[in-house]
Amino acid sequence: MSETSLPSGHRSGYVALIGRPNVGKSTLLNAYLGQSVAAVSPKPQTTRARQLAVLTLSNAQIIFVDTPGIHQAQHRLGKQMIETALEALRDADLLLVLFDLSRPPTDEDAQVAENVLEAGSDTPYLVALNKVDRVRPEHLQERWEFFEALLPSAAFMTTLSATRGDNRDLLLENLIGQLPEGPRYFPIDQITDLYERDIAADQIRAAAMQLLRDEVPYGLAVRIDEFKERGDEGAYIAATIFVERESQKGIVIGKGGAMIREIGTLARKEIEAMSGRKSYLNLRVKTLPGWTNDEQALQRLGVTRR
Ligand code: GDP
Ligand code: MG
Repeated sequence: MSETSLPSGHRSGYVALIGRPNVGKSTLLNAYLGQSVAAVSPKPQTTRARQLAVLTLSNAQIIFVDTPGIHQAQHRLGKQMIETALEALRDADLLLVLFDLSRPPTDEDAQVAENVLEAGSDTPYLVALNKVDRVRPEHLQERWEFFEALLPSAAFMTTLSATRGDNRDLLLENLIGQLPEGPRYFPIDQITDLYERDIAADQIRAAAMQLLRDEVPYGLAVRIDEFKERGDEGAYIAATIFVERESQKGIVIGKGGAMIREIGTLARKEIEAMSGRKSYLNLRVKTLPGWTNDEQALQRLGVTRR
């Protein structure tokens, strides 16, 4: 669609999604985009690199930047994730800050608020208190007031349920209302600027983290080794899962290969749902000691910002 055919008053811009891990950033993004672009996981820190997702509507185009959570750095990987998140804050037209209403506020929430105030002194921000479907009514007001005190100058603040849908449309309307007037920056059918292979890597990591739960904490990365189109047979994807310790390798593979097969099946289903075609996944596991602290290894694995 050419720019000239856009309605007058068309708005566009970059919206950075901020919030500590697990508050529901990817879930909200996926709900807006109607398909699984950002990997969602019941475990924090699935989203490692910065991801763009483009939502094109008749009157607006929003380019969402889903960032890794801002949290205390424990090792280099953590530091890099924070750097990526902070950069997204500085570049954005608008910040959307998510907090989790379903649990008591933490120091991390205060840290998130501090980062928002530091990075975007002129940038408007909106605050959404997510998981309202899970908050006990007697906690609602007290938590609302707490978060309001952390970020008192929000252009708009609301409760939200990214999963159930409460206030999702209302939030979107207000996001659009805060964006500057501007053209469509991306073609109408473009949902993400990530290559499909990167999304596949994200889905494999999410599947592994979901199935392994707490057994292999942060030391897990995925590299796509081959991504081939095979006509009617769909895509052939070969990937390596990297772990830090030999003992973790055994856990990822499982008894007689049971776990790695399960990870492959789950990831394949997600990839197929996302791409709308069949795919064949070939997974292997390698030990790469200390990779979370190794700058070069991180770059090789594609964990740095794309
Ligand atoms: P992110 O780390 O901020 O991207 O968080 P995710 O989007 O991966 O979500 C973390 C977990 O919270 C997942 O298990 C989601 O299903 C869950 N979740 C997200 N939004 C809601 C919500 O509104 N209500 C409830 N009950 N769970 C939610
Ligand atoms: Mg996420």
